[in-house]
Amino acid sequence: SQKLLEVNNLKKFFTLDKGKVLKAVDNVSFDIYKGETFGLVGESGCGKSTTGRTIIGLYEATEGEVSYSGKNVHTLTEKEKRSFYGKMQMIFQDPYASLNPRSTVREIIAEPMEAHGLYKDKKDRMERIYQLLEDVGLNRDHANRYPHEFSGGQRQRIGIARALALDPEFIIADEPISALDVSVQAQIVNLLKKLQDEKGLTFLFIAHDLSMVKHISDRIGVMYLGHIVELTDSKELYKKPLHPYSQALLSAIPIPDPDVEDARERMILKGEIPSAMNPPSGCVFRTRCPAAMEACASIGPKWHEVEENHYVACHLYDKTIRKDHDEVAATK
Ligand code: SF4
Ligand code: MG
Repeated sequence: SQKLLEVNNLKKFFTLDKGKVLKAVDNVSFDIYKGETFGLVGESGCGKSTTGRTIIGLYEATEGEVSYSGKNVHTLTEKEKRSFYGKMQMIFQDPYASLNPRSTVREIIAEPMEAHGLYKDKKDRMERIYQLLEDVGLNRDHANRYPHEFSGGQRQRIGIARALALDPEFIIADEPISALDVSVQAQIVNLLKKLQDEKGLTFLFIAHDLSMVKHISDRIGVMYLGHIVELTDSKELYKKPLHPYSQALLSAIPIPDPDVEDARERMILKGEIPSAMNPPSGCVFRTRCPAAMEACASIGPKWHEVEENHYVACHLYDKTIRKDHDEVAATK
């Protein structure tokens, strides 16, 4: 399959009061292939939304590169930028906050068309809006209503219709279901899957837990404190999580059937996620890692391809560090 998006050594730092620097995204690299769904998962504050926003250009990258269809998106001409931003769209977490309460559904969906000077003919535009409403499971009677008249799930459908208005290729969905009732979450996930099949969309799907991402993602990157710590196939990650943080995230997913005994060991993470203004030295996960070794405090872990296409950044998979640690431990 063809690479659509390439993210290479991306950094996004924010300078705050008194010169303090918040390292929201610190050296993140991954690729997304055409037609796939790439899940980016981690607790709030890990930098996953900032990664999405930097990719789409809402933030300027501090360092690193984002390429879309082989083009560096940070060096596009103005004209290229316009067509590029039509191809990439974003769906937001809070469908209510992201919809203007004083605009009708019709106006909300028409807004990107207007901004890009598309569907100028009134009749064409209305046809397009009706079609989009149908695509997301709403109908034309909804066009003249206001966001507050809809349920959370319906509002997210409106947000999705707006994201589809310019016929995008790539959609960044930033926690599109976390604000919704559990009963509605699966409906939205199914809708996104259906739209992906019909329109050949590629998704970056951002989420804070693994429960739903499992059903929608082809591959998953697990993020912690500005870093991707594990990256592999969705199935492989569920079968064989390698990073202690991924193992903890997975053990936190409830088993849906109460009659099935949960044989997994629950791994409760101790402590809070540290501040990205003052990240731990060495491995950023070490303050919460049940397997931390001495080397973890001083050396940042390298990437290891433990199985084909299964990457992890952890010293447990570094033979030399592991050997030194075991030898020291044996003498104690
Ligand atoms: Fe834990 Fe060390 Fe691996 Fe980091 S490098 S996850 S602290 S064992
Ligand atoms: Mg790359």
